[in-house]
Amino acid sequence: MGMEEINKLQSIVDESDNIVFFGGAGVSTESGIPDFRSVDGLYNQKYKYPPETIISHSFYRRNPEEFYRFYKDKMLFPEAKPNKAHMKLAELEAAGKLKAVITQNIDGLHQMAGSRRVIELHGSVHRNYCERCHKFYDLRYVIDAPGVPKCSCGGTIKPDVVLYEEGLNNQDIEDAIHYISEADTLIIGGTSLVVYPAAGLIRYFRGRHLVVINMSPTQSDREADLLITDKIGSVLDQIHV
Ligand SMILES: [Zn+2]
Repeated sequence: MGMEEINKLQSIVDESDNIVFFGGAGVSTESGIPDFRSVDGLYNQKYKYPPETIISHSFYRRNPEEFYRFYKDKMLFPEAKPNKAHMKLAELEAAGKLKAVITQNIDGLHQMAGSRRVIELHGSVHRNYCERCHKFYDLRYVIDAPGVPKCSCGGTIKPDVVLYEEGLNNQDIEDAIHYISEADTLIIGGTSLVVYPAAGLIRYFRGRHLVVINMSPTQSDREADLLITDKIGSVLDQIHV
């Protein structure tokens, strides 16, 4: 990334007080959380099914033991800490410049960094509910439970994570559309925007500046008035609030 791109991003941030950030897996990779969609091949030795099959609603119903073996092994990172991207976004919100973070990640790192308005399109590993009595359980309980975590009532505990074959939460979609359609600047970071319907939300943006920061090409590059091909944390770290 060149200084010219950073300067342009800085001036966009300087003149905006209604920024919305839309982020994906790339925001968390700098915290050591891999994008499991991009490393599919790694699991073939250890699991009989591709991740998309295991992390699906029907597989969870049929085979919760195998679901939880994969989920605990590959999708939970209790030691992960927020990185420079999470920290800067929290700073921008505290300064009144950023209105919402919309994320496809389920790791809770934005809240850990201090972000308050976070729309988690795919849910969160930090929220888990008994399917029978709806009692809440935290991440630690799920990790410490052997095999399939069970509630004190005997019901099975399900993570509040949107599995394949499941729809997004309607309130989350409405909130995301609200913030995107009102924003004057939309920064898309760390996502190739292939996951639908999340990708479709971008179409609601009518503001002045569309910024895309990603390591690889995205579907929105053509419409972006600023495209930075680099790690989101390294880019945002250079922006002054
Ligand atoms: Zn229960």
